[in-house]
Amino acid sequence: MKLVGQIRLPTDPILQQAAIQTGLLGPETVGLTLGHSIFITQGNLTPRVLSHECRHVYQYELGGSIAAFLPVYLQQIASVCYYDAPLEQDARANERDTA
Ligand SMILES: [Zn+2]
Repeated sequence: MKLVGQIRLPTDPILQQAAIQTGLLGPETVGLTLGHSIFITQGNLTPRVLSHECRHVYQYELGGSIAAFLPVYLQQIASVCYYDAPLEQDARANERDTA
């Protein structure tokens, strides 16, 4: 797990617009998980955020690899937006408020 100053948007304008429109990345984004790598913005490391991102690690493991998981995840985000994506609903359902 790495604390970062901010989670940067892609520099490509089309990807940047897609990331913002789907709700994947925005000013309020506090965490991002890529495989076993969890990035959380400084000041936002809480049990809830960490447990949410750890659930994404679990989802990546079920998927088998980043290459297998990401297209499924991004397809969900693109079709129903970030909040309603089933993998996000699953991550939220497994958040914990205490360590
Ligand atoms: Zn999430």
